Amino acid sequence: MKTRNVLGLTAALSVLSALAAGVGYDDTPQIPGQKWKVHDKNRPNPPVVTPAATFSHSAPAPSDATVLFDGKDLSAWKGKDGTAGWKVENGYFEVVKGAGDIQTKAEFGDFQMHIEWAAPSVVKGDSQGRGNSGIFLHGRHEVQVLDVYNNKTYADGQAGGLYGMWAPLYNAMKPPGEFNSYDIIFEAAKWDTAGNLTKQAAVTVIHNGVVLHHKQNFTGPTGHRNVLPNTPYSGMGGIRLQDHGDLVRYRNIWIRPLGEYDRPEAH
Ligand code: MG
Repeated sequence: MKTRNVLGLTAALSVLSALAAGVGYDDTPQIPGQKWKVHDKNRPNPPVVTPAATFSHSAPAPSDATVLFDGKDLSAWKGKDGTAGWKVENGYFEVVKGAGDIQTKAEFGDFQMHIEWAAPSVVKGDSQGRGNSGIFLHGRHEVQVLDVYNNKTYADGQAGGLYGMWAPLYNAMKPPGEFNSYDIIFEAAKWDTAGNLTKQAAVTVIHNGVVLHHKQNFTGPTGHRNVLPNTPYSGMGGIRLQDHGDLVRYRNIWIRPLGEYDRPEAH
């Protein structure tokens, strides 16, 4: 009887773990340099960390930063029909479903940026269908925005994941409706004149004061269920925010160049 109970428990646990591992894919390509497939359903989810209350929230922009949103208007952004058609109210802007992605008018090289975002307070959908948006660095590398507060999804699609490539080290998500902060430091990939890659793109992401990635490589542009070739580009680009149909909010966005060491003109 005791043995049967143990077996029954074991069977129940294995069903549970199979369900837990069931979000994601097993028919996708291998991620270059990793043992996982794209959106691998067996890739472990990051441990949950409860973040501190207000790390970098409403942080004022440094003097040399370009303010991309000061709570008032979307004049620094453009949309598919020219103007950015997202809704501005109460010091934030919100995705308008179907209005399409919006992108900064200006382009940037290597940068540090600050951005705050909130998943909808009305929880709807699951996995990748809950509070999905995204921040595309240079319009090509997505740092995922997703409500992962008690929401199971595949590891490389977690909030702060380098989508389809790297799961974040931790899940530092705030509850739905509360603003999160991302502080992102990005260095673009470089190619020589013959078109050979000489430097991988690298990113550091801090989510509510918790490091999710430190100088991790984007080995190519972001795709969905695929691996895209890392084609050369100028190393300059805008910031694109994703309309994934969910009413994600953004506020307090600024960006500044990384700069270089030992510049004589600084004297
Ligand atoms: Mg997304």
